[in-house]
Order: sequence, then C-alpha cells, then structure tokens
Amino acid sequence: MDDNETLRQLEDLKSECAECTKCGLANTRNSVVFGEGNPLSPLMIVGEGPGQTEDLTGRPFVGRAGALLDECLAECKMSRKHVFICNVVKCRACIQENGRFRNRPPAPEEIATCTPWLMRQIELIKPLVILSVGAPSAKFIIKKDFAMTKERGIFFDTPYAQTAIAALHPAYILRQQSTSYDGGKSLLVADIEAARKKVVELRKATEE
Ligand code: URA
Repeated sequence: MDDNETLRQLEDLKSECAECTKCGLANTRNSVVFGEGNPLSPLMIVGEGPGQTEDLTGRPFVGRAGALLDECLAECKMSRKHVFICNVVKCRACIQENGRFRNRPPAPEEIATCTPWLMRQIELIKPLVILSVGAPSAKFIIKKDFAMTKERGIFFDTPYAQTAIAALHPAYILRQQSTSYDGGKSLLVADIEAARKKVVELRKATEE
C-alpha cells in the first residue's frame, strides 16, 4: 500500500471511529480522540485514554500531561510532527460526582471494546517502534503483567511493531514532582530518546 492509500484509509478509519457507540463512554464523551501527528512515522506513542481537555478538543495529550510530553519530545529534538500519538481508549472515561465529571481509569470491558480501533490504526501506520506511556498502555502493547518500575526503559517483543518500550506517564510524573525531585521526567526523556535511537537502528538494519 502506498503512503497516499495509507493516509486515505486512516481518514476513513477516523470517520468510522468518530461515530462509534460500541460502549457506554459514547454517552458522556464530547469527542472521540482518534490520535494525531505523523501517520507515516515509524514511532507511535500510545497513552491510556483522553482526559477532560482531550475530550473537549478532540486531540490527544493536550492538557498539563501533554505539555510535559511535548517538552520531553523537544528535549529529544522531536515534536508531534515526528511521531503519531494516540491512546488505547479513544473516549474519556469519567464518573459524575456532585454534578461534576471526574476522570476514572477505563474499565477492562471498555478497553476490550475499544482496542480493535487501535489495532486497525497500528495495521495501517505499521510503526517500527511503539512507546507505551503509562502502565495501562504497556499492559496492552507489551504484556498483561507489565511492571512499570522494574520494566520501563527495556525493549520487548510485541505483536504490534518490531519492538516496544514503556515509559512513565507524564501525569504520574507531574504528581511526583517536587522542588527537589523531577518526578521521573529525566526517565521519560531517556525512554523517548531510546525509542528514537531504536528507530534509527532498525531503519539502518533494513537499508543494509
Ligand atoms: N493521558 C493519556 O493517557 N492520554 C491522553 O490523551 C491524555 C492524558
């Protein structure tokens, strides 16, 4: 399939996904957050699911966590133009409390219902490397019992790309940060840089 056909099929998939009502998240969402960036990139970043800002804008990682992710990409001389960013779950998972909606982790059934969209994105984009941010993404992309503290920063086999690596979620880093601790930001930068270098290495190997 040539690049134009890939882009066309991805646009079709995005339109189909925008109409999805396969689970209850469709009832409370404002937008389906399909993903953005460069669909021809060899590096795909996969997060957990949209939060409030993403739900309102229809774009992945645009809240405070997204700003930190952009900062870390920039430290590796990259931007959203160099990667494709999406999530395991395409709609915001939330609960209503005292008349307000609060984010909650997506339920296993919601993840199971939604992941065929991610699988179709991966089939079209064919990333060489997937960087999972956060444990829920790593548990889907790498293995069910993925342990972030022990296993972040390590490359694993995955059925979805040539290799995959997981990193701390920027929202977790923001919660850990203090005046004397970067919250793990340097680890996220290191893992993004490792993923970038792996892309270069794999591309070289296929050219040889
Ligand atoms: N957290 C995620 O995992 N994904 C987003 O798009 C935003 C926050």
